[in-house]
Order: sequence, then C-alpha cells, then structure tokens
Amino acid sequence: MNALPSSAAFSRTAPLVDPFGRAVTYIRVSVTDRCDFRCVYCMSEDMTFLPKRDVLTLEEIDRLCSAFIEVGTRKIRITGGEPLVRRGIMTLFRSLSRHLQSGRLEELTLTTNGSQLARFAGELADCGVKRVNVSLDTLDPRRFKAITRWGDFDQVLAGIDAAQKARLAIKINVVALKGVNDDEFGDIVAWAHGCGIDVSFIEVMPLGEIEAARFDQYLPLTHVRAGLAERFGLEDITYRTGGPARYARVRETGGLVGFITPLTHNFCEGCNRVRITCTGTLYMCLGQEDCADLREPLRSSEADDRLYAALQSAIARKPKGHDFVIDRNTQRPAVARHMSVTGG
Ligand code: SAM
Ligand code: SF4
Repeated sequence: MNALPSSAAFSRTAPLVDPFGRAVTYIRVSVTDRCDFRCVYCMSEDMTFLPKRDVLTLEEIDRLCSAFIEVGTRKIRITGGEPLVRRGIMTLFRSLSRHLQSGRLEELTLTTNGSQLARFAGELADCGVKRVNVSLDTLDPRRFKAITRWGDFDQVLAGIDAAQKARLAIKINVVALKGVNDDEFGDIVAWAHGCGIDVSFIEVMPLGEIEAARFDQYLPLTHVRAGLAERFGLEDITYRTGGPARYARVRETGGLVGFITPLTHNFCEGCNRVRITCTGTLYMCLGQEDCADLREPLRSSEADDRLYAALQSAIARKPKGHDFVIDRNTQRPAVARHMSVTGG
C-alpha cells in the first residue's frame, strides 16, 4: 500500500478518473466476509473469518459509500460473503436510499445467495432497490446441496418468489462447473426465462485457495454458449454494463443470457468499477493485488479530507487490466484472496 499524498495535491472531490481515462462510477461493496453457505468454488468448508473489530461498521460503510457518491459513483452493488446475513444490514440500505431519493445515486443493488430474501425482499424494494442478482447454479436440490454444502434449495426458491412478489427484477448468476452442472444450462435458461428472470453464466475465477483444483472445475463459456446454441437461437446484443458480461437474446423466450468471461475474453478496456472489502480495503482490479486502505483515513478523522485523498491516489494507480490464467501448469490462484473477501 502506498503512502497518502498530501491532500493539497488533489481537488478534494474531483470525479474519479483513472490514468486510462476510465471514470469510476460503480462500486461493489462487501459488507461481510461471512456466509451461511460454503460453495465449493468460493470457500473451503473450514473458513477463518475476520475479527469483528477489523470489519467496517455499517455507519462507516455508509460514510464510505457517500464519499464515493461525492466523487461520481452512480451505482452501488452490495455484496459479500452473504450481505443479508450481516446483522442490521437493512439500516445500511435504508440510509443509502437517501442518495436514490436525491437522484445522486442511480442504482442500489445487491448480489445474494437468496437464503434470506424471503425475509428482506419487501424491505429492499421499499428502500428503492429495483434489481437483485441471485446466485443459483442448479435446479436440482441434491446438486444444490453438493455445490453449496450448507444451502437449502427450497429456501432460495422461496426467496426468489418473494423477490418477484416485491417486484424486484432478478438475474440469476450461474457459475459454470465442469462435470457438475454442465448438463442443465439449457433447462436453467428455460426455467428462468419462463419466470421472467435473466441468466448470466460465470467462469470460475482463480481466487483463493479451495479444496478442489481449479482446472477440474473450469469450463470455458465458449462451450456453454455452443451448448445453448444447439437448443436456442442466440442473438448477440450490444447491451453492456461496463463489466465483463456480454449479452445475447434468446429468440424463443425473449429473455437475456449473459456470459461473464474474465478468462476467455478480456473485458478490462471498459472497466468502470472498483471493489471495497468489508475491512475497507479498496481493490482497483478484481484480478490484481494492489490495494488501498480506506479504513485508516476513515477511522483517523471525522473529516473526509484524508479519505478523498486516499481515493484519488488509489484510482491514479488503477491498472489497465488483470492477467488471470487457469491451465494445467498454473495450479495456484492468481490472487490469494477468496471471492467472498473481495466481493463478487
Ligand atoms: N453470497 C452472495 C452470492 O453468492 O451471490 C454474494 C457474494 S458471491 C462471492 C458473488 C458471486 O461470486 C456469486 O455469484 C458466486 O457464484 C460468484 N463466485 C464466488 N466464487 C467464485 C469464483 N471463484 N469464480 C467465479 N465466481 C465466483
Ligand atoms: Fe457464500 Fe456466495 Fe461464496 Fe457461496 S458464492 S460461499 S453463497 S459468498
């Protein structure tokens, strides 16, 4: 981590623009590293979680998000770990909703495993959340148990149902796992689109040490797409989010399928986002180790000057892109931290 430059070197709240001219307008904020599932590609069964004192309070997260909004953030995605297992999490959504009401924030969303959605969907909608991403890798309850280890399939389906009743738009995220769920992608698309839900497929990324070898799990999405194209007509569309997803419309259903391909297709050129861990560490790129500590400037002063200086200094170091590799010769993760730490 670099030392902070003097705050005088920066216009305090100038919009965040990186050295490649990319404006940072989207933040993903992990509110906890804990989770009620133990998905095989994400965590080991026996995880050691962070001590509570290291984790930002909800008030500190609100302050951090508000500072980002001050310097141009228009979209916030709350993630984790499982964001909805964090105690009191609705107070954060409730307080951030003031920025939606003022129009300074365009979108507040979350990525969730769905286990707690039945409890919280109504309140999320009430706070101005319009869309949620729900991770669901299979429609088979036994497989679901094998993938998530601790998850309950019916609870997630009840959560999806509650989210629909609360009129939240839903996108299902499916991690493509070789030999695990690769025979049901077409069925997942047909089911989801039948319910008015979009689907994105994700390649396994080499993040963190887990029990299984990555190469065994890795399935390039070119294969997923080719399989879907045997069953459906796929029309490429230009819709982009600034992220790694490319989208196709399924002719038969009218629904969208996204392909999130950090490995087979480099997506960094349009990157508009950064990630913040629940300890206030800012990662300028999901696939690189360089980071900036925002907790220290947050906790050292009630004024935000040092925080803004830290933000500007970090974005000045945002790298051009990542260099993920999964192959037989590369068995170590590209970065040691788990996805549940950085926030998906
Ligand atoms: N717990 C929430 C969930 O599962 O949706 C939010 C956090 S989770 C880390 C966010 C997303 O990252 C999920 O869609 C999950 O499937 C995905 N993910 C986790 N580890 C991954 C990995 N190693 N490669 C690719 N995707 C991963
Ligand atoms: Fe938990 Fe999400 Fe990771 Fe699964 S993918 S273990 S639900 S954080």
